[in-house]
Amino acid sequence: MAVPKKKISKSRRNHRRSHDSLKSSAAIECPNCGELKLPHHICSACGYYDDREVVQMESLA
Ligand SMILES: [Zn+2]
Repeated sequence: MAVPKKKISKSRRNHRRSHDSLKSSAAIECPNCGELKLPHHICSACGYYDDREVVQMESLA
């Protein structure tokens, strides 16, 4: 329910917003190529997961 802006103190408003910040997502380095990747995902740079190639990467070079 809407409450007039004046009725909410800065302190109360800021306390409410204290949970609004976004957490930074976890990122680890790929053990194969060193690129940053998400845990439990294949590496988007080399296609490796758990020390083996899971997805064949199209060679651009
Ligand atoms: Zn990699």
